[in-house]
Amino acid sequence: MFGDQESINAVRESTRKLLQKELLPRIEDLEEKAEFPLDIHRQMGELGLIAPLLPEQWGGAGDPYLQLAVAEEMAYINSGFGLSSLASSCLFGANVSKHGSEEQKQKYLPGIVSGEKTGCWALTEPQTGSNAVGIEATAQIQGDHFILNGSKTFITNAPIADYFFVIFKTLNEKGELIDSGFSSGSAFILERGLEGLTTGSPLKKMGHKSSPTGEIFLDNVKVSAKALVGKVGGAFSAMKSSLDVERVIFSGLALGLMRFCIDQSLKYSKERKQFGHPIAEFQMIQDHIAQMISSYEACRVYLWHCVDEMAKGRDVNEKAAVVKLLVGEASSKVTNLAIQCFGGYGYMSEYLVERCLRDAKLFEIGAGTNEIQKLIIAKQGLKRGQALV
Ligand SMILES: Cc1cc2nc3c(=O)[nH]c(=O)nc-3n(C[C@H](O)[C@H](O)[C@H](O)COP(=O)(O)OP(=O)(O)OC[C@H]3O[C@@H](n4cnc5c(N)ncnc54)[C@H](O)[C@@H]3O)c2cc1C
Repeated sequence: MFGDQESINAVRESTRKLLQKELLPRIEDLEEKAEFPLDIHRQMGELGLIAPLLPEQWGGAGDPYLQLAVAEEMAYINSGFGLSSLASSCLFGANVSKHGSEEQKQKYLPGIVSGEKTGCWALTEPQTGSNAVGIEATAQIQGDHFILNGSKTFITNAPIADYFFVIFKTLNEKGELIDSGFSSGSAFILERGLEGLTTGSPLKKMGHKSSPTGEIFLDNVKVSAKALVGKVGGAFSAMKSSLDVERVIFSGLALGLMRFCIDQSLKYSKERKQFGHPIAEFQMIQDHIAQMISSYEACRVYLWHCVDEMAKGRDVNEKAAVVKLLVGEASSKVTNLAIQCFGGYGYMSEYLVERCLRDAKLFEIGAGTNEIQKLIIAKQGLKRGQALV
């Protein structure tokens, strides 16, 4: 049965146990080197913890509740690890599973689920982020082949990926766009080693440092129609539902970060004394704690409601945007308040809450910025003409 508490608890426990033992002692080093620990990722795979969202047929459990629980627990230890793991399973893997051919699923999914292979999903370009339909990388039809050109940036796992799910604008044989709008995109699965495909070094960034982020360059890459995902011109409409899944599942990372910060702040505020009293006795610290818990609780309940809706096969486009916006804003607020509770120690790397604030900021940017979520929510609300009941 989907979403049963016993399975969710078991998955939480296994993820926590493994990552506390294997990941926790290595985090500092991994963050410094911008390195995703593939060995630990593979151990997650052995325990069936990488991709429970994917169908059972491909080694998953077809269960989004379990995927969300894993996301939370990964981020409780290290959100960067969680980001790279989810980019492989829920961006590359889930897109192949949902939109790929049988042949593509057989070829790519087993390695992703076991952790032997790592995937990425690439839309963003140096000149185009929010305006997805404005991408400039091109796939030109040439007989029964396609010629791919362009570059992608800010791609999670690009520096280490074996497999690349990349979205292009499509050109006909004469080099003309097949459509100027929503029906112009085509997606391809590419493999490292293809002639003309190269990747850059990990980009230096504010947070999520153990998750390598980088560029992909495509210089006259020739692929057969076997690499095409779905149909020519179908990539943008396919992407819409995939982004909803991403917004819901990746929000689990933000929830895990908030929970870690609350746990740490509760403990610290009872231990730390000033003016002869534990700081937890001061009403202004209690105000911080109350704000942290109430923000987290609202996000937790709404996020699990969203995953429930998703599991029932309902359209979550608006709710995914709502949860992404709520969780993005709340995680920046909660992690910031945690630092406030810790005072100067919170500003020091040793206490880890400063890393949480740096990590949390991404949830207001990646998978569509706060502003873009607001556009989606307002558009849907105005179309409906009334509030949700
Ligand atoms: C760590 C990290 C990992 C990432 N991983 C991936 C990945 O794996 N794959 C991938 O494809 N991408 C990835 N991204 C890219 C991410 O999705 C984009 O950065 C994001 O969508 C914003 O695009 P942009 O950076 O080009 O900002 P822009 O689109 O240039 O936006 C700049 C500002 O303008 C605002 N803005 C833009 N348009 C509007 C509008 N119409 N109305 C109001 N405000 C507007 C934005 O909200 C933002 O505040 C990643 C980014 C980061 C930082």
